[in-house]
Amino acid sequence: MTLDTYSDIAQPADAHTVLLVLDGLGGLPDAEHSQTELEFAQTPNLDALAAEGICGLHEPVASGVTPGSGPGHLALFGYHPAKYYVGRGVLSALGVGFDLRKGDVAARGNFCTIDESGVITDRRAGRISTEKNAELCEILREIELPGAELFVQPVKEHRFLLVLRGEGLGSGVGDTDPHETGKTPLEPAPVDDASRKTADLLRRFLDEAGKRLADRKPANMALLRGFSSIPDWPSITQSYGVSGGAVAAYPMYKGVSRLLGMSVYDSDASMQSKTQLVREHWNDHNFFFVHVKKTDSHGEDGAFAEKVKIIEEVDAALPDLVGLGVDVLAVTGDHSTPAAMKAHSWHPVPALIWAKDHVIRPDEVRRFGERPCIHGSLGPRFPGSSLLPLALAHARCFDKFGA
Ligand code: ZN
Repeated sequence: MTLDTYSDIAQPADAHTVLLVLDGLGGLPDAEHSQTELEFAQTPNLDALAAEGICGLHEPVASGVTPGSGPGHLALFGYHPAKYYVGRGVLSALGVGFDLRKGDVAARGNFCTIDESGVITDRRAGRISTEKNAELCEILREIELPGAELFVQPVKEHRFLLVLRGEGLGSGVGDTDPHETGKTPLEPAPVDDASRKTADLLRRFLDEAGKRLADRKPANMALLRGFSSIPDWPSITQSYGVSGGAVAAYPMYKGVSRLLGMSVYDSDASMQSKTQLVREHWNDHNFFFVHVKKTDSHGEDGAFAEKVKIIEEVDAALPDLVGLGVDVLAVTGDHSTPAAMKAHSWHPVPALIWAKDHVIRPDEVRRFGERPCIHGSLGPRFPGSSLLPLALAHARCFDKFGA
């Protein structure tokens, strides 16, 4: 099924659907625990929902692919990341909360080290500190370009965001990062006529950046990649007929939600504040996306016990959320972030769909965890992009297909 098919059968629905995403939910047993973080956590409420609903494990992008949070979330909204590809530049802009507008061209930048002959000796400039990065961005920001506005914003360590804004810019420009050391940076090359002006501006920018950074070793040059602009995608309302409200604390998730036409509500990290925002906007939307970040952060830090604690906090807060009158609830992650790996991973992500009022056909899963979910009716490796449409079907968002 494509999004067009859902859009053709979408019908008005009163029921409220909530997609609760615990970022990086999936885990692994580690040296001290024979269970995953989710299996180890005490989650009576999630277990009860699992028992009444259906469970499984999904793969956000494809088998064996480790997703970034941007593509992971697009999959969860039913926008398969292979088709709905968004460049690194746009993802970087969303990640720092930059107000990217239609027609802007964004790129991911790296400070790097070049030697006297211009050959790259370190693509990451020794991973300079974020403070140092901010200083260098100040310098780059002063560069003036004819007929375009320039924005340079620090990200983390050696990474920064570059945005060009102006008339007639295209994002079809090749990376200047050759992706290996021992080579000189590439010229920004336009791949289409619409991007010639952009490539010219970038050439000027990089010439000037080289001069201004010359005595700033190890960060004496910049590399650019992932040139991209805001994509022209169907909104979640166009795709499914629902009105979406997103409750999140971090820029990336708010940005992806905005890309899909959702209203965005700023929360803090607590489930209480998220539930309160859903309560306040209950009558404005029939679909809510609620995002919890800390499961992923603790996974990345290798903090098994802390990740368990966040899962338990979310579990304890679930009755308040469901008690608002939620008709359909989907709970999952955008990828796995096992504390044992201190990183995102390719492992399938546990998922459950619960619905009230006898519209769900229960399976035999009684506990929400990676191993129990293998036996659920959603399957042990279902495509992540089918989760939301399936949840919305339980909210009667779709009419019959064909006569
Ligand atoms: Zn994530």
